[in-house]
Amino acid sequence: MTKTNTTPMMVQYQKIKDQYPDAFLFYRLGDFYEMFNEDAVKGSQLLELTLTTRSHSAKNPIPMCGVPHKAVQSYIDILVDQGYKVAICEQMEDPKLAKGMVKREVIQLVTPGTQTDTGAAGAKRNNYLTALTMVAPDQYGFAYTDLSTGELKAAEINGQEAVLNELMSLQTKEIVIDDSVAEDLQATMKQLSVMISKQLEIQTSSELSYVEQDLTTAPLKQVVGLLVTYVTVTQKRSLAHLQRAVAYQPTAFLKMDHSSQTNLEITQNLRTKKKSGTLLWLLDETKTAMGGRLLKQWLDRPLINRQQIEDRQAKVGTLLDHYFERNSLQAELVKVYDLERLAGRVAFGSVNGRDLIQLQTSLEQVPQIQHTIEELGDAVFDSMLTNLDPVSDVADAIRAAIVPEPPLSVADGGVIRDGFNAQLDEYRDAMRNGKTWLAEMEAHEREVTGINNLKIGYNHVFGYYIEVTKVNLDKLPADRYERKQTLANAERFSTPELKEKEQLILEAEEKSVALEYQLFVDLREQVKKAITRLQKLAATIASLDVLQSFAVVSEDYHFVKPTLVKGHQLKIKQGRHPVVEKVLGRQSYVPNDVTMDDQTNILLITGPNMSGKSTYMRQLALTVIMAQMGCFVPAESAEMPIFDQIFTRIGAADDLISGQSTFMVEMQEANHALSQATANSLILFDEIGRGTATYDGMALAQAIIEYVHNRVHAKTLFSTHYHELTALETSLKQLRNVHVGAVERDGDLVFLHQMQPGPADKSYGIHVAKLAGMPDSLLQRADVILRGLEQEAKEKPAVAAVTSTAPVEGSPAAAKPVAEPTSVAAKPESAASESTPVAEQPVATETSAAETDQQLSLFTDEPELNPAQAKVLAQLKDLNLMGMTPMAIMNQVYQWQQKLSK
Ligand code: ADP
Repeated sequence: MTKTNTTPMMVQYQKIKDQYPDAFLFYRLGDFYEMFNEDAVKGSQLLELTLTTRSHSAKNPIPMCGVPHKAVQSYIDILVDQGYKVAICEQMEDPKLAKGMVKREVIQLVTPGTQTDTGAAGAKRNNYLTALTMVAPDQYGFAYTDLSTGELKAAEINGQEAVLNELMSLQTKEIVIDDSVAEDLQATMKQLSVMISKQLEIQTSSELSYVEQDLTTAPLKQVVGLLVTYVTVTQKRSLAHLQRAVAYQPTAFLKMDHSSQTNLEITQNLRTKKKSGTLLWLLDETKTAMGGRLLKQWLDRPLINRQQIEDRQAKVGTLLDHYFERNSLQAELVKVYDLERLAGRVAFGSVNGRDLIQLQTSLEQVPQIQHTIEELGDAVFDSMLTNLDPVSDVADAIRAAIVPEPPLSVADGGVIRDGFNAQLDEYRDAMRNGKTWLAEMEAHEREVTGINNLKIGYNHVFGYYIEVTKVNLDKLPADRYERKQTLANAERFSTPELKEKEQLILEAEEKSVALEYQLFVDLREQVKKAITRLQKLAATIASLDVLQSFAVVSEDYHFVKPTLVKGHQLKIKQGRHPVVEKVLGRQSYVPNDVTMDDQTNILLITGPNMSGKSTYMRQLALTVIMAQMGCFVPAESAEMPIFDQIFTRIGAADDLISGQSTFMVEMQEANHALSQATANSLILFDEIGRGTATYDGMALAQAIIEYVHNRVHAKTLFSTHYHELTALETSLKQLRNVHVGAVERDGDLVFLHQMQPGPADKSYGIHVAKLAGMPDSLLQRADVILRGLEQEAKEKPAVAAVTSTAPVEGSPAAAKPVAEPTSVAAKPESAASESTPVAEQPVATETSAAETDQQLSLFTDEPELNPAQAKVLAQLKDLNLMGMTPMAIMNQVYQWQQKLSK
């Protein structure tokens, strides 16, 4: 589009616009913010504004649209929410006094990560702006801040994957980078809808140098410098509420990758993407916005430090035992407003009278909260008590200065109390006296003229006037007043006296408003000095709020305090999935034990579809997370170790962004768990291998189990529909079979949702299909086919028995035509044992390299191999399985399948 730089104003516009090429420029023109050129065309569409033109007569009229300045915030929010930036360009001088072009400057660049006015909907959510710089190959400095609260944290992170995990877990909308960050990482971040903002150089600011004070390493200082430079450059206003940057280590918390957090529905419902139906939803009985945000942070980062966990548990326990004190605490917390964000607004200078009253009200609760905590009589709260500083100097100052119900705007007066400032009182007296004088004059004139509806009024253009309706004009003595204005049915007049009074009143009003504003600013500056104290108080109140919330839910849902053991045993009696239980109702939920002693690391779970296998697994993960947050847990009793990481492979989470298939994602997640997990980790694998053909799926499943068993030693729940795998119990010492019970009643399947020892006896697929409402004729047909297959299997016994135990009824081994191999699983004597690492006991080697007749018979059943089949066979025989990752094996198997199906 043509840029028309003909008029001085458009020259000025273009000069400013050139500095903000990637933002919408809102250019202040009188009572409007105008957009021009491309901004106007796009902005008018996004904001549903009428597109007009400037200089219509010119050859190239300039597209233009505008928004009224009073409503500008809502338009900015719409654009920023959609991932755009908005540069607000103001008039820097009074147009009436300006000589030549009015000076204009951008006063703020609003971006998705720096947006602070998130409204009520965002009260319990942080909006994090992040920053990243690469300091050495694959080593990063990472930082994040919430500009509305001033929270600022920084970490050193290794590897792109860890960086992406942090980004996703913080749900950042914008990241600031320099040019050290590789293109491919930038591309991935863009795919995740993270806006990338470049900040190439770091500017040092003496005013904000304190934020780096506690940082000790160069990468941390560098990335915080980058972040602070970006916010300074874009916000162009006081950032005195930015807190000192706190260095953290992602490894100092229970680690969960983003897909685990998503799959477990911790803060976001998988289906609706909302809070409802999540662990956060269940646990959130917080009374303050600060508490709500902190709860979410605790959920995202459960602890691994025993002392810290036990400290929280002790506090929850005491709050749980003190019903009345807890109730008073809640009643007091309800009256505490968002201190963190109020402090932010004080720093920004955007605070108004109502905000200050909210601050005062909040601070007035603190002595009462202190008292309530003292009543609990538990030394565990001592340090909190010390931090509960009522900042009474600030509360007193606000109380003395601000009226109890101030107007929204600080610009129109009426904010400061009478008696606070002598000069202000004088102005106000003048105004009030003037107004009394006006009332007296009105009464007097009515009496003298005999016109009862004569009135004295005011408007901005004509000032004070005496109004007489047309019908009464003849009663008015000639020349009593001077004529000012004629209306349709009235005349307006003035008198010299009235003019004199008007001047006095207006002058007093103007001066009083100006003085009030100054007094307000002085008070704001005084409050600003207390920001650090307010933030410390806010942090303490937020913690108290989350702890009382834990106590409330622990009581409501009958949670118990878990014991954190030093060994590796896990013993949960009558555990429940808290969210499913809440949804189903307590009576309907069937509790289950999870018992794994020091010597048991893997539970192999079998049972029909829909019987509750994945609920059982999720239940354990949520219980661990709750325990390590310091909350009580849904069980009759619970003993558990402190886990370092949780890995899950549950559900069908297709990675839509990168377009990868479910099976690929499954393998990647499994691989991630296998490579990262330690003996202190928890792994949940739900039906691994089901996304591919039966045999390679089963082979992979078994190989993965053996790998975990022999190398990783993590506590693992592995659910499977491959019944053959249950035979592993005889060879893998640390594995035990459990199954979810189901009974057949009158041909119908009844799920007991009850975990029982040993393997399941059937897979009940057809019963589940019946439950799903499939047509009777279809079900009958399936039944006939099944019987046929079972019969066939009996007549022609499977050639390569999985193990010494025969294939279970209903299993693929029994159901498949005999020509197919039964399984690639190991014979018991060759199965990997604890002392023999899986590397030396590969799954396929056990079967193919054994070269027994049994194994050969798999292939000799089909004597005439075509060349493609022969080639695949040769490759299979030569395959060095142990030199390959599960992923590579998967790929190879896939290629073979492709070849064979040609
Ligand atoms: P699976 O993984 O075996 O297919 P799910 O764990 O998805 O089964 O459970 C299926 C449904 O069964 C759940 O949506 C839930 O409503 C119900 N369910 C699961 N476990 C229980 C339980 N312990 N008590 C009551 N209902 C349960």
